[in-house]
Amino acid sequence: MQQVHSVQVGDMKKEIDLRNVPKARKQLTILVVGCGLGGLAAAYALGQAGHSIIILESSPSIGEVGAGIQVCPNLSRILIRWGLEDMLKSAAERDKPAWFTFHRYDSGEVIGMSRLEGKLDRDHGAPWYVVHRADLYDMLLSIASPYMNLRTNSKVVSLNFEDPFRPFVTLQTGEIISADLIIGADGINSVVRDHVTGQTEIPLSVPTGDLAYRVVLPTHTFKDDPQLKPLVEEPRIRCWIGPGRHIVGYCIRNRREYNMVLIKPGDSHSYSWTAEGDLREMRDGFNGWDPCLRKLLSRADSVLESALLICRPLKTWIHVGGRVVLLGDSCHPMLPYRAQGSAMAIEDAAVLGNLFSRLSNTAQIPELLKVYENLRHARVSATQAASTRNRRVYHLPDGIEQQQRDTAMRSAMQEELLQYGMAKDVQHPFTSSCGNPNAWSDKNKNAEQFDYDPDVAVDEWWALNATGAFLGQHKCEIAGQL
Ligand SMILES: Cc1cc2nc3c(=O)[nH]c(=O)nc-3n(C[C@H](O)[C@H](O)[C@H](O)COP(=O)(O)OP(=O)(O)OC[C@H]3O[C@@H](n4cnc5c(N)ncnc54)[C@H](O)[C@@H]3O)c2cc1C
Repeated sequence: MQQVHSVQVGDMKKEIDLRNVPKARKQLTILVVGCGLGGLAAAYALGQAGHSIIILESSPSIGEVGAGIQVCPNLSRILIRWGLEDMLKSAAERDKPAWFTFHRYDSGEVIGMSRLEGKLDRDHGAPWYVVHRADLYDMLLSIASPYMNLRTNSKVVSLNFEDPFRPFVTLQTGEIISADLIIGADGINSVVRDHVTGQTEIPLSVPTGDLAYRVVLPTHTFKDDPQLKPLVEEPRIRCWIGPGRHIVGYCIRNRREYNMVLIKPGDSHSYSWTAEGDLREMRDGFNGWDPCLRKLLSRADSVLESALLICRPLKTWIHVGGRVVLLGDSCHPMLPYRAQGSAMAIEDAAVLGNLFSRLSNTAQIPELLKVYENLRHARVSATQAASTRNRRVYHLPDGIEQQQRDTAMRSAMQEELLQYGMAKDVQHPFTSSCGNPNAWSDKNKNAEQFDYDPDVAVDEWWALNATGAFLGQHKCEIAGQL
């Protein structure tokens, strides 16, 4: 896996080893609020950059609840750079999906296929994994732990900015903790965000009208059932799409478990990652769907349920004082229909880590935060929009638009199958897969989503823009590597 890239500074060009992260000349004490995937990634990236990290987590213990997560190439690239390749392989090598397939909701007929292993990973220079969320969490914890002081049972209830250079948080217990920089990685219902935006009166998170159920089934009996056997024998990401709802399924834990996310309309449930859902309500929501799915759902004995919320667009992620900033779901939650929420949080963390590895005095903090926001805002806004676009594509009611969608998806599928010598009967005229409703077959969309590299983004920005007060310091640092 490529770990170096070229940086051009004036006439000088050099391959820089991305794993050899420079340490900041000025060490900060940084408070990270929230120990989710985003908070852990921030702890690692900023700790590795030489800063001292305290993580405050409201829950009494840390970890992720059961369910799978897709680690697309833009995320696996970062994790591999952070030294996690062996762990990813050991947790999920046998689950690596060969294809992303779309199925008609009632019959299960395949209407779209995109090749992942051997194509998408090759095109974008990093693999596509599907892992258990708890495993991903443990991987990040293993690399972040040396750098962080973790405090559980530490719910932040307010922030205070009286001392502009040393903001502090107040915990539910009344304890006060100050820092040079505070990072809100406290998820969709962020307390830190309320202080950044000053909009404590108006709820910023809004329901999307979609409800997500998450089910994990043991697979040891699948091989005895001809209908379920292919699910473990041919690892794919399967996505059944139907009117107003869809289901995504794939193997995790080296095919020992089958993970499903089921989306249907629903609104009256509070947002929580750990809330138990109603099994009957979930099954009733998918009456008339593919019999294979019905069989899977009949085997579930528990389900997690969460209402999907998004957040009104924020003008800024940075408190006016320049010492508090947001990251991940606290500032840009998105529908999970492009499998990018955690990837965006971890990219945020990687950008912050890279930028703050260049810090030489505290006066630079507000400027570096502004650079972070500038580098990240457009990227995550585009990803949010892509995720929302998929909602419309997936949830079309049966009718003319749905038929047009299916025809276009089949077209792109034929192109993909031809490349693999698997097209038997070419019934549809070929179209360019660019603009195809199957976003995974759209080369342009894939390049936009999966080629992004946070370290390249920062290094390029730096090479082009670090001027004035920064330049004396940082041009020397970059030049030092040349
Ligand atoms: C059904 C579903 C499927 C998904 N699938 C994918 C996928 O395949 N790929 C992908 O990349 N993303 C996926 N996502 C998105 C992803 O899960 C989220 O974007 C990601 O978990 C956000 O991480 P975070 O660290 O920003 O927030 P969170 O994970 O919400 O973490 C926030 C943390 O802050 C803590 N906290 C909250 N308030 C306080 C407080 N006041 N004081 C102290 N601590 C506090 C919380 O306890 C929590 O530990 C999916 C999401 C859903 C709903």
